[in-house]
Amino acid sequence: MTSKVYVSDEIKEEIVESSIRPLIRIVPDFPIPGIDFKDITPIVGDYAALELSTMFMSRPVQDLAVDKIAGISSRGLYFAPGIARLLHVGLVPLRKEGKLPWNTYSEDFTLEYGTGVMEMHQDAIKPGERVVVVDDVLATGGTMKAACNLVEQAGGVVVGIVVLIDLGLEVKYNLPVRPHALIQY
Ligand code: AMP
Repeated sequence: MTSKVYVSDEIKEEIVESSIRPLIRIVPDFPIPGIDFKDITPIVGDYAALELSTMFMSRPVQDLAVDKIAGISSRGLYFAPGIARLLHVGLVPLRKEGKLPWNTYSEDFTLEYGTGVMEMHQDAIKPGERVVVVDDVLATGGTMKAACNLVEQAGGVVVGIVVLIDLGLEVKYNLPVRPHALIQY
């Protein structure tokens, strides 16, 4: 059973534009020169904005018979647990290299301002499980692609991708499904 959200798209848009988007703080030249960093800590620091963001992010995937939510560390994990609770499913943390204590699958990735290695516990997803991947921001898509690859390494099926913000950059990677974003730039 999933929690349904009965709010029209128009009302949702109004709430997003009046109460969520204005809380995004744009920090120039962070973490490196040339990057306009979207600081979302004012959103997660505001109870109503956090609740509403989580609720609206869960909406496009609530009827997809989801088995697990995979949350990308660090800031995807601001939202993934709330979405997992709303969908009544478990949470799979996707962490930076060396943070998870058990046997892991591993993927290298390139993001807007650097590179990294992402890991997932090998027993976190069973073959055939239907997974939604959650992150805060979609920029080039490199981070999201690595997350989807980890799910697929375990035999899971990526049935949804949800982000709070889509920067509107050219997504250079072939993602298994079209991402849903609450806020477009
Ligand atoms: P990408 O892999 O290029 O799509 O970058 C997305 C990841 O990097 C997400 O996990 C974001 O947290 C982070 N990120 C990339 N660019 C930005 C940005 N301009 N502002 C905030 N976070 C960003």
